[in-house]
Amino acid sequence: MDEKDHVTGRLLEDTRLARDLSLEEAARRTGIPARVLEGLEKEDAARLPGLVYARVLRKKYADYLGLDGRALSEGGRPRERQAHSSNGRPLMVEAREVSKSYQAEALTVHALKDVSLRIEKGALVAVMGPSGCGKTTLLNVLSGLDEIDVGEIFIAGEPLHFMGDADRTGYRARSMGFVFQGFNLMPVLSAVENVELPLLVSGAGVKVARGRALEVLEQVSLADRAHHRPSQLSGGQQQRVAIARALVNEPAIVWADEPTGNLDSDTSKEVLDLLLQLNEENDQTFVVVTHDPGVGSLMDRVIQMRDGRIVGTAGDPEEAVSGT
Ligand code: ADP
Ligand code: MG
Repeated sequence: MDEKDHVTGRLLEDTRLARDLSLEEAARRTGIPARVLEGLEKEDAARLPGLVYARVLRKKYADYLGLDGRALSEGGRPRERQAHSSNGRPLMVEAREVSKSYQAEALTVHALKDVSLRIEKGALVAVMGPSGCGKTTLLNVLSGLDEIDVGEIFIAGEPLHFMGDADRTGYRARSMGFVFQGFNLMPVLSAVENVELPLLVSGAGVKVARGRALEVLEQVSLADRAHHRPSQLSGGQQQRVAIARALVNEPAIVWADEPTGNLDSDTSKEVLDLLLQLNEENDQTFVVVTHDPGVGSLMDRVIQMRDGRIVGTAGDPEEAVSGT
C-alpha cells in the first residue's frame, strides 16, 4: 500500500469529522457497516471485504461525502428543473418547515425547529448565530448529508426527500462542494495533489484529475504554488487550496462552514475576496456559516439563527423567510 492509499483514507475521515458526523450516522446513510467505513478510513485491509469490493465501497463513501470525480468522467451536469423565486430568479435551495432533532442518551435536542428558507441560484448567503444554534445541522440537512424528521427540501427544484439515497449521494457528489474551518490539507502532498485527491478517491483518471486540479489552482491564483506543500504556504493560501479542492468538480453550490474561522483578519479578507470573485465569475451559489459580522456584511443576505430557528434575514426582502 503506498502513501496515497493512506491519505485517501484520511481524506474520508477528515471530511466526515469536519461535518460532525458519527461513523454510525454515515453507516446508516450509506448502508455500509460502520466497521467497514472505519476500515476504509484507516486503510485497514483486515476490516475490508476484498480489494475490488473495497474500491466500490470507497467510491460510494466518497460520493456520500461529496468527494466525487464522476462529473469529470461523465461530463454531464444534472438537469435542473425550473424552480423560481417570487422575483423570477431560479431557486437553488428551498426548505419548507424543516425540523430535525438528535437523540443523545435520554435527551432530545431539537437542532432545527420549523425552518423555512429560499436561496436563489448565484446568491451569496451568510448563516450567522451563536454556537450550538443549528448552523452546521442546517448545512448538513440542506446538502442531504443528514436526514430530517419532517419538512421538505428542494435543491434546484429536485425534492431531496424523495430521492433515494443513491440519487441523493450522486447529486451531492456532482453538484456540491464543501469548505470547512481549518480543514487540514494532507501535509505530505503538494497543493495540486491535495486538489486532485477527491477526484482520484472516486476513480477519475490520473491525467484528467491533474489537468483539472491545475485549472482550478489557476482560478484561485495559486498556479505558481502547485508543487508546494501546505507547510510552505500561508494560512490564506492553504485555505485557497482547500477552496480549490471544493471547487474541483464545478459544484453549482458551495457550502462553507466557518471558512475563515482560523484565519487572521487580513487573511480572512483574502479568502472572502476569492469567494466573492468565484461567485461572480461562475454564478455559483455560496452558503457560508460565519461568526464574523464583517463577513456577513459582504454577502447578499444574512440568515440569522437562534436556538434552532431562523430569527431574521437581512439584505433581500424579496426572499423573506417564513417559519420562525
Ligand atoms: P452550530 O453549528 O450552530 O454550532 P450545531 O448544528 O452543530 O450548531 O448543533 C445544534 C445543536 O444540536 C446543538 O445543541 C448540538 O449540541 C446538537 N447536536 C449536533 N449534532 C448532534 C449529534 N450528532 N447528536 C446530538 N446532538 C447534536
Ligand atoms: Mg457548527
